[in-house]
Amino acid sequence: MRDGFRIFDAHTHIGTARHSGRSLTGDELLGHMDRFGVDRALVIPFPVVEDFRQAHELIARAVRAHPDRLAGAACLYPFISEAEFREEIRRCAEEFGFRALKLQPKFQPLNPVSSRSDFFFEAAAQNHLVVVAHTGDGVPFSLPSLFIAPARKFPEIRLVLAHSGGSVFFQEAMVAASVCPNIYVELSTLMPHHVAEVAAQVPSSRLMIGSDLPESLETEMSKILNGELPAGAKHDILWNTANSVFGNAH
Ligand SMILES: [Zn+2]
Repeated sequence: MRDGFRIFDAHTHIGTARHSGRSLTGDELLGHMDRFGVDRALVIPFPVVEDFRQAHELIARAVRAHPDRLAGAACLYPFISEAEFREEIRRCAEEFGFRALKLQPKFQPLNPVSSRSDFFFEAAAQNHLVVVAHTGDGVPFSLPSLFIAPARKFPEIRLVLAHSGGSVFFQEAMVAASVCPNIYVELSTLMPHHVAEVAAQVPSSRLMIGSDLPESLETEMSKILNGELPAGAKHDILWNTANSVFGNAH
């Protein structure tokens, strides 16, 4: 709780990232959440890890220890054998109770408009997982508009555009959300005036906030807490949308 608002951080990571050298434990994440007043967070593996099963097990242990604070997400290189991919997604959903499957097209070159990528979205749909797609840097496959195709092909999936396409492509995220009722937008990395522009056109019931890294937590949340938005929209963006999309504790 911060300034009378419950906070759901829809984008955090724990584990060790091979590409950046970043490392964060579950307890460290909870410490940052406590210091700022974040009530709940979606915890996602870093996109490049030594062992994706271990990364998922680390998150599963943290979620199990703090089911009231943390929800889990899967993230793995999609071009392992399809059977292996589907089995790991099943394990994450059934055994760990994860709520989401993340795609990071900058490191996982899956073409969202190709039917060759259907297996990814099918695995999410079969396991009732929300798809969280990194958008912004990492084009072309991280362009927000490319996710209109799978959002239409799999209307039962809720699809979250992480970073809202970033400052360069945020209007694409607005277009994608406006033509697909199952597309949601996570607002991290945007300039405050970009956030206002998105919030003016996309219903707040489809907007959420994320920090990505602890040093961005204060900045990302302050954009909403201190922004020129109605209190109802702030409640939606800071808590309601993510809480309804990623559900309550298993
Ligand atoms: Zn991230």
